[in-house]
Amino acid sequence: MEVKKLKKILNQFGENVKFEYDLKKKNWFNIGGKSKVFYRANNLKELVNFLKVLNNEEKIFILGAGSNTLINDNLFDGVVIQLAKNFNNISLLREEIIVAGSAVLDNSLSNFAMKNNIGGFEFLSCIPGTIGGGIKMNAGCFGKEFKDILISIQTIDNFGNIRTIPSNQIKFNYRENNLSDNLIFLSASFKGYSSNLKKIEVEMNKLKLLKKKNQPTKIKTSGSTFKNPIMQTEKKVWELIKESVPLDKSFGDACISQKHCNFLVNKGDAKFKDMKKLIDFVAKSVLEKTGISLEKEIKILE
Ligand SMILES: Cc1cc2nc3c(=O)[nH]c(=O)nc-3n(C[C@H](O)[C@H](O)[C@H](O)COP(=O)(O)OP(=O)(O)OC[C@H]3O[C@@H](n4cnc5c(N)ncnc54)[C@H](O)[C@@H]3O)c2cc1C
Repeated sequence: MEVKKLKKILNQFGENVKFEYDLKKKNWFNIGGKSKVFYRANNLKELVNFLKVLNNEEKIFILGAGSNTLINDNLFDGVVIQLAKNFNNISLLREEIIVAGSAVLDNSLSNFAMKNNIGGFEFLSCIPGTIGGGIKMNAGCFGKEFKDILISIQTIDNFGNIRTIPSNQIKFNYRENNLSDNLIFLSASFKGYSSNLKKIEVEMNKLKLLKKKNQPTKIKTSGSTFKNPIMQTEKKVWELIKESVPLDKSFGDACISQKHCNFLVNKGDAKFKDMKKLIDFVAKSVLEKTGISLEKEIKILE
């Protein structure tokens, strides 16, 4: 749709809608250009209305914390939606069952569970995304994934229809699920087990230390770039990269982390094309050396 028409029909959403909005600061890589429209959805009623007004006539991308997303420097010819305010609530439904909005950070859910003496959420303290992004990615670490604690998800489609989907109707695999890319996750319910604050705290600190030991921190990255090719080899993807790629390779300011070579890093002002070149170079080098075709874990908004 033309910007002029969009401005007219989206006028009712006031300050929550921005045009030609810069996405660079909205992702961990700190890379990217602008989005034709950016919409900050503060509550469900307004989001339903927004989607109905758009009537599925625009490409939609839903952005969480942007910790797994690489964004193109060119204008995204569509609408980026970020959930805020009311989607940030967490509550204890009943014993060991927690309901969290999709904008809640994994770390906040982990802390909430700890304060309520609920175990099983410790691993979330090590993942820097939101609940929405975590469900989409079936994010996980230390042998646990989102699917292990999820009971159900509340979703909305591009036409504004809301549905609750029990997790046993969703097929989760390693870093993916079989739900349509057109669904926005609104909230989710999770189940843990009875534990105690002290025990949970000890476990959480242990995991955080382990993570710090093995992965770089305080850098501009999206975490693991490629998935472990679990169907093709028992080797971890970082092992394949280490034996196939010169680790000092860089394109512009896009380089490979010396601490964890599956983490690609923007060491300054890397451009999208630099990072994309590095991703392609790593994948090509691994394919040539090992015959294994790597699949990207990170999502690319183009
Ligand atoms: C330093 C670092 C460490 C990391 N460690 C781990 C790790 O240990 N384990 C791991 O699994 N990942 C890890 N990651 C990757 C990342 O944190 C996870 O994939 C996280 O779950 C992404 O969440 P997000 O909110 O940032 O998602 P985004 O990057 O914002 O989005 C990722 C995908 O989810 C979709 N999405 C986001 N919100 C919604 C929603 N509400 N509804 C529908 N779709 C949605 C987006 O459209 C996109 O396709 C790490 C990343 C970094 C930077």
